[in-house]
Amino acid sequence: MADEVAIIGAGLSGLALALALQQQGIKATIYESRPAPLNIGGAVMLSPNALKVLDALGVYQEVRSKGFNFEELELQKVDGELLETYEFGSKQKYGYPGNRIYRFELIDIILSKIKAEGVPVVFGRKYTRVVEETNEHVIWECADGEQHTASWLVGADGIHSTVRKYLYPDLVPRFTRMAGITAAVPTAPARHHGKPITKPLTIISEGKGAFVVAPQKVDGSEMLIGKQRRIDELDREGWDNFSADRESLIKFMQEDAEAFGEVAITATQHIDPKKMNVWPFYVIPELDKWASAKRRVVILGDSAHAIPPSAGQGINQAFEDVYIFALLLAAAKGGNVKVEDALAFWQRYRQDRVKRVLDLNKQIDLRRLPQDQLTGLAAEGIARQQFDLTWLYAPDFKADVDNWVKSVSVESA
Ligand SMILES: Cc1cc2nc3c(=O)[nH]c(=O)nc-3n(C[C@H](O)[C@H](O)[C@H](O)COP(=O)(O)OP(=O)(O)OC[C@H]3O[C@@H](n4cnc5c(N)ncnc54)[C@H](O)[C@@H]3O)c2cc1C
Repeated sequence: MADEVAIIGAGLSGLALALALQQQGIKATIYESRPAPLNIGGAVMLSPNALKVLDALGVYQEVRSKGFNFEELELQKVDGELLETYEFGSKQKYGYPGNRIYRFELIDIILSKIKAEGVPVVFGRKYTRVVEETNEHVIWECADGEQHTASWLVGADGIHSTVRKYLYPDLVPRFTRMAGITAAVPTAPARHHGKPITKPLTIISEGKGAFVVAPQKVDGSEMLIGKQRRIDELDREGWDNFSADRESLIKFMQEDAEAFGEVAITATQHIDPKKMNVWPFYVIPELDKWASAKRRVVILGDSAHAIPPSAGQGINQAFEDVYIFALLLAAAKGGNVKVEDALAFWQRYRQDRVKRVLDLNKQIDLRRLPQDQLTGLAAEGIARQQFDLTWLYAPDFKADVDNWVKSVSVESA
């Protein structure tokens, strides 16, 4: 039987998309190459723009009860001087505090809801290629040679996307020569100027860069610690070996701990090698199309716009993609707008926000990177500005889509 929407990838984009489509009465099936969802990277930070989407999809209360809720993070000098605060959410201003939740918990919450709604998730099924695309459907193939038909095929298959190859056969993600090394450690023993850690902190040490601290688990009893380092690109095996060498990773975390003060010294003494992560930062250049010419193949999430981590917006932006896509596909199916117009509006709207996130990343990098790594930003003439995050956290996506649909309907009446 043909699928209405075949989603490739059961990462956070694919799972959330299935839920958003289900809410719009659009039937989807998820196909995931692995035997179970991939649990990488410990915990993730969610900001009000994404939490509003998760609320609309009926899972926010569970997310709130399972994650660590907080409103701001502080940028401090090593001597404790407050340099700046950075809002990650605000119940009062945006309706939601920020939330730091384990990826596996977020996946479990969405996956359980999908299962309860009867959305099929097929594990161990690897997409390989599009066989045929017409104006009405797309036929695609799995690694086992089996062919499937769908009205739409959505690539939610991550930064190294295979679906993207159908739109961009030669594109390879660009490595930024930076990687984040993180560890999860118990919060209680760590001290910052004699005080316990109760909120996320970024300690800036002139010349050395930043040491990041972020409580996690609902009671904040565990915290992430992290640093970035320059590194040349490795192949898959190289990254696996780099990540497996926990002794070197711990050594890196402990290096220069004095330069970041008490919290770095105390926290890096309690690293459990099993609780470490390596995140090499790859980016995708701005793409001029997120859909094929016949609009039956679409990419979203990291496949369309992998974003460097500075503003912590990777997953948040993916949730925006899927929610707005589902609203627009429903409008197009309802005959209110043409699919091609809906997809063009979707990409414009989303890409505009992704670009603003990339600018925000640069503002954060200006504050966090050591002097010798700021040359790129200096060459671009990026000047330091005050943070204004209202555009990021406060939009009403549903109203924006409804207004656009209305405006198009009026034009064509
Ligand atoms: C260590 C680490 C830590 C991170 N921490 C954060 C963070 O704190 N905050 C944040 O916002 N972002 C973070 N990110 C980035 C974040 O993980 C991505 O932005 C996010 O996962 C993108 O979701 P996605 O669903 O688009 O892609 P992915 O999560 O990559 O999911 C893609 C899915 O598609 C499947 N797939 C791939 N190819 C195929 C195929 N051919 N057929 C079928 N299935 C396929 C994969 O197995 C996978 O399950 C982190 C990344 C890493 C690596």
